[in-house]
Amino acid sequence: MNTEGLESAPIHVRSPGRVNLLGEHVDYNQGVVLPIAIDRQVELFAWPLDQPRVEITALDLGETVEFAFTNLEQKLDRGHRPLPAWALYPAGVAWAAQHQTLPLQGFRAAFRSNIPIGSGLSSSAAVEVAFAVLCNALNGWNLPLLEMAHLCQQAENVYVGVHSGLMDQFASACGVQGSVMRFDTRSLEYQALPLPPGTALVIADSGLRRSLANSAYNERREDCERAVAILSQDLSGLQSLRDLSLEDFYRLQNKLPEVTARRARHIVEEMARVDIAVERLKSGDAAGFGALMFAGHASLRDLFQVSLPEIDALVEIAGTLPGCYGARLTGAGFGGCTVNLVQAHRVGGFITALQDRYRAQSGREVQVFACEASAGASILEKL
Ligand code: ADP
Ligand code: MG
Repeated sequence: MNTEGLESAPIHVRSPGRVNLLGEHVDYNQGVVLPIAIDRQVELFAWPLDQPRVEITALDLGETVEFAFTNLEQKLDRGHRPLPAWALYPAGVAWAAQHQTLPLQGFRAAFRSNIPIGSGLSSSAAVEVAFAVLCNALNGWNLPLLEMAHLCQQAENVYVGVHSGLMDQFASACGVQGSVMRFDTRSLEYQALPLPPGTALVIADSGLRRSLANSAYNERREDCERAVAILSQDLSGLQSLRDLSLEDFYRLQNKLPEVTARRARHIVEEMARVDIAVERLKSGDAAGFGALMFAGHASLRDLFQVSLPEIDALVEIAGTLPGCYGARLTGAGFGGCTVNLVQAHRVGGFITALQDRYRAQSGREVQVFACEASAGASILEKL
């Protein structure tokens, strides 16, 4: 596609990635998470069509697909070939809409993104939410943001087949500029909280993308479900680890197989950390919040065991640098990024020092960049 024509598109959508500051692996245990939408995003340009068909170009891949709404269930394009993997995200959004009997008008679209793929910054949810926002506008759905997030989660869980929680789509759809989002994945209540004054966020992308991430993710989910199944014999009404108090966990942990106990301990303690973190955000306590990030990382490393030595090194080095309040692995793990809370006036020095020290220690390069808490997805122009 000729990219020069993009700006002339009548509809232009921006949809951000996200970084989670604390509350890792708790979203599928009905816990509270603390993500922000970031200033890295999908940009989507679209033209309505009169015919009931969709033509999408993935600009970063140089690929175009066409599909009809009648072929969504079979995941086939207009030539009856299987849709490529990337097209399952937008097609999944249309499929989920069809299941809710929402109207669907055809369109031609092109999108690009500067969110690194598979690094824990949720490039996939940003793609889904971009298309949901487009279809919401094109078809006059008037869906509340959270329902849009749900629609996208359906697309990812059922159509793409990735069993993620709701956090990614929530952050991309509902983020508030300059704010950390407290999102309760059980009650679905959310609230924007300010970042501690004088702080900035820095992301370090290790560049490591481990293929075992998916199977390990499923294993961790199973461990959590096993813990609930075993402990519910003693605690009637226990539906998820969200219902398990720290006291009950410590009292009953011997009933669990050793590995299961370690996984469950991460979850219940991480949920407690998030509660304290929210209080520290409310009182603007940057050092206190950062300490919880370091503690959260140690727990992901030692109890939940989803870190890697390279990621641990990034967190350790960050902890020795001036102005760093906290650092931790963010995202599901086995690679991806760390997120760092840093004194705003020290960000430049922090970035250079982290890159240099990591290179000297490991011989590897790391991409380090500052990021801002941005607003959730929206239509930028509609003529
Ligand atoms: P992440 O943690 O970044 O969300 P996922 O594996 O969940 O990683 O999703 C990545 C997938 O999303 C890619 O393999 C691709 O199918 C799709 N995707 C993300 N960004 C783009 C893009 N810019 N262009 C095309 N497809 C994309
Ligand atoms: Mg994803």
